[in-house]
Amino acid sequence: MSSRRHFLKLLGAGAAAASTKAWGQTAPATSVPVLMDGHVHAVNRVYWEKADLWQEVPAVGWDFARARAAGVNCVIDNLGTYGYWNYNYTPKQAMRLIETANRYAEKHADKMGIARSVADARRLVDSGRMAVFLGSESGWDHEGDLDVLGALYRLGLRTIQFATQTGFNAFSDSALAMTQGGQDPDHFHGINDRGRALVAEMNRLGILIDITHGTESAHKQLIEASKAPVVASHDTLRAVSGVGLSDEVLKALAAKGGLVGIHGAAAVVGRRYRKWMAEHPAEVAAAAKAQPNMVGYRPSFARAPGDHGEYIERYDREFREIWLARAQWKELPELEPLVPTADEWAEQVDYVIKTVGADHVAIGLDMAGARSSVPKSPSGYPDLMAALNRITTPANVRKIAGENWFRVFGQAKV
Ligand SMILES: [Zn+2]
Repeated sequence: MSSRRHFLKLLGAGAAAASTKAWGQTAPATSVPVLMDGHVHAVNRVYWEKADLWQEVPAVGWDFARARAAGVNCVIDNLGTYGYWNYNYTPKQAMRLIETANRYAEKHADKMGIARSVADARRLVDSGRMAVFLGSESGWDHEGDLDVLGALYRLGLRTIQFATQTGFNAFSDSALAMTQGGQDPDHFHGINDRGRALVAEMNRLGILIDITHGTESAHKQLIEASKAPVVASHDTLRAVSGVGLSDEVLKALAAKGGLVGIHGAAAVVGRRYRKWMAEHPAEVAAAAKAQPNMVGYRPSFARAPGDHGEYIERYDREFREIWLARAQWKELPELEPLVPTADEWAEQVDYVIKTVGADHVAIGLDMAGARSSVPKSPSGYPDLMAALNRITTPANVRKIAGENWFRVFGQAKV
């Protein structure tokens, strides 16, 4: 089945309205409809698991094979330098992952390609392939060096998350600083001058700024500093599930033309799931303790004077074991029936539509590791599309499914 027909089928009730006119506006009338997830982690798996994600992968998490079969034709792959927290190792790890992404895309050039622009993405999607934008989560260079930024842009990096998941870096506070390292989340009270210089350079180059995991102050200052729309690639709305973007940030983000990609993890989307968690702190803490701390990994050993590669070899070996251990995590039986449904996921979308409009919401599931999510697997994208069709018009579904992502990428350079 052609991907256009496949996608139209996915749209269910909306398909009847999928005439050339309904697809109009920003996309050429003849182009294939886009189904885009703006937050996946595939390249990290290729690097650490040596996995071929175009095969049926019997593991947990996200893969190209099932996502493509479910109609997805564009993603942002978020390269995570997790564990490589060091002024030398972070950019090195980012480069390893960018090289992995480019090499993997070249090997599977019949099925995918790296998108360096919206025009690239449109061409790949129209040819029936998966377009992959490269993004960075949790650090590209914790020093925030502008020359390193420029070099990574040349290698294909097109969106960068400012805040890490572990602590403040040299330019931004992280909302997760306390969770991961017991640091003050308000070290800079937002972003500092180095952060503002980075924003200006990202605007100049055309790198989309992702505010996810920033503190409330960092969110507001990034939106204020950027001349281009900024995004929260994978987040929720505090007003809906008690965690995520405040209404104030959502409105500021939308006023700048930005968007929020709605997360899929049960622990942030699910109201019933979160209520159970709040009522059972001991069980939740025990389950969290059993989960290896991949994001916050630090080597327990030091680099010896005169080291010639032994240190990084051991570092890589140890980190890979922790990465692989994440797939062993098991959901608590009591929580299994409370994992949110596609309709509960769509409540988040509906809230954004009603608060700031359908131009400011998209998909950013962050389906990673073994954690519970909606949908449960990459085969479940049609469930989200069906839920979207129950809450809004076919024209809005088309924006939320991908055209909003394309618009903000197209506006990133100012
Ligand atoms: Zn994240």
